Amino acid sequence: MKELKTLNKYFLKYKWLFSAGIISVVIASIFQIYPAKYVREATNLVAIALKNATNESTHEALYNTLFKFSFFIIGFSLLRGLFMYFMRQTLVVMSRHIEYDLKNEIYKKYQSLDMEFYRQNQTGDLMNRISDDVGRVRMYIGPAVMYTVNLIVTCSITIYVMFQTNVMLTWYTLIPLPILSITIFYVNNLIEKRSDAIQSKLSDLTSFVQQSFSGIRVIKSFGIEKLFEADLRQQSEEYKAKQLSLAKVDALFFPTLFFLTGLSSLIVIFAGGLLVANGQEDIGIIPEFVMYVTMLTWPVTSIGWVSSLVQRAVASQTRINEFLNTEASIKNTNFEPFEFQDSIEFKNVTFTYVGKNYPALENVSFKIEKGKTLAILGNTGSGKSTITQLILRMLEAQSGEILIDGKNISNINLQAFREQVGYVPQDVFLFSDSIKNNIAFGIKNAKELSLKSIENASTKASLTENIMAMPNQFETIIGERGVTLSGGQKQRTAIARAFIKNPPILIFDDSLSALDTKTESTILENIYQEKQNKTIVIISQRVSSAKNADAILFFENGKLMEQGNHEELLKLNAKYADLFNNQLNYDRSNTD
Ligand code: ADP
Ligand code: MG
Repeated sequence: MKELKTLNKYFLKYKWLFSAGIISVVIASIFQIYPAKYVREATNLVAIALKNATNESTHEALYNTLFKFSFFIIGFSLLRGLFMYFMRQTLVVMSRHIEYDLKNEIYKKYQSLDMEFYRQNQTGDLMNRISDDVGRVRMYIGPAVMYTVNLIVTCSITIYVMFQTNVMLTWYTLIPLPILSITIFYVNNLIEKRSDAIQSKLSDLTSFVQQSFSGIRVIKSFGIEKLFEADLRQQSEEYKAKQLSLAKVDALFFPTLFFLTGLSSLIVIFAGGLLVANGQEDIGIIPEFVMYVTMLTWPVTSIGWVSSLVQRAVASQTRINEFLNTEASIKNTNFEPFEFQDSIEFKNVTFTYVGKNYPALENVSFKIEKGKTLAILGNTGSGKSTITQLILRMLEAQSGEILIDGKNISNINLQAFREQVGYVPQDVFLFSDSIKNNIAFGIKNAKELSLKSIENASTKASLTENIMAMPNQFETIIGERGVTLSGGQKQRTAIARAFIKNPPILIFDDSLSALDTKTESTILENIYQEKQNKTIVIISQRVSSAKNADAILFFENGKLMEQGNHEELLKLNAKYADLFNNQLNYDRSNTD
């Protein structure tokens, strides 16, 4: 239960709704009691009238009184209904507000957490916290709290009135009720357990189907549709079995409920009948108590239901708290304005990914001055992308120092620094939106951006010709993650993004790899056009992308092997020169 304490701040925030809700519950419960009293009176009057069956005037009086009572009963029921409406309008509305706040709190937390957190947690898990788990917590905040208050108030008032009416009969009536709530608790737990199993099977099924759609090209090209069909049938079969097992328990719920409340009514009629026969009570007590049993049924049933709601909410809130209590290891502490002035420098930087036993970068030192171009060259796995992550402070080096304008990267305004960087990641991510919006992504005043400037950026990325061939040109929707684009088009969209942002620092992580050498050199020219006032980092496996840079770093297995400009490295006549000669020959043989 202590996990749920996190939510108290929200109850405090919505204390007015909460209090109004509780008052509504109390008033609704009070109005519920009165009709039972009138039914009793009415029954007694009918019994008396039966004895004097011939007397006209008693009949007349009976009609009048019964009419008056019906009016009261209807009136009280309407009032009760009104306050039950208020109860839902306050407590359920409060729970929706809190759900909204909690989702925002979790989302904000997610945004603040670093890449290490995202490496350790699956997307599905993150989604569950913010949807399923919050949903379960809401069931506690709304329905569970509402029914608990209703339970306490209704039971106290009803049982108090019952004891006032007849002590013996009250005891008899109450006996089956604890059995009812315990049974409901067990049945409900069983239902929820099976529902959970169904839920997790369903999510397996969904991701299976999702994967097979996104991988449909591979599936078709391997001709293994039948295999996937069989797999799906198997999974659906399991899903069906789980649904059927739930249906079995579900079907037990209402019969059990009706049996146990029926039992209570039976006891009332039997024991009450004896009392009436002995002349200790009037006959009206029987319908009165039957009505009390009905009134108690729902609150008592809800004990079982509410307990399992609370159990689940505790489990969910525990998982949510785990995330809310995670501290980002990379945090911005400096909020002063920052403008890149001078240089980026790595000093003896070593970085090892969590769970790896060898460093991705080992003792790396280099420096880029403002306005210069740096090329980083190396095979896959040599640590190039890791460098970009370190420059953006998505990762933090275990040893060594990264200096921006001579200041340690952990002491500068991270937000402001990142805003000065145009980063084209190796794995481009596009949104299912128009190509125009994808290019303008991340620009603060994207709405005011003219089509001209978007076109301009796309031209610099050699993309405009391709876009003009599309059905709706810049308004063309590019499908989920850009499925309608080729690899090279995706890369160039991301490059256009960087151009339009027009930041002082540009980083291209293997961004030209899917392009032919001609397009590559056109884009490189456009990149170099920006050179005077920009600091540019170009990462590549191809010498052709690197050779015109002011400085070239050559990496192998996380180690910086050679650095210098093209001429210097050729003179060195070592690894870079080898690569250059190999790729030169390869390019020649391809163009011949
Ligand atoms: P490059 O960009 O040159 O291909 P990377 O910087 O991506 O190289 O990778 C350098 C090394 O770090 C590789 O050995 C790779 O397996 C490892 N690595 C990269 N990303 C991760 C990650 N997210 N988690 C664990 N290891 C990683
Ligand atoms: Mg890489």
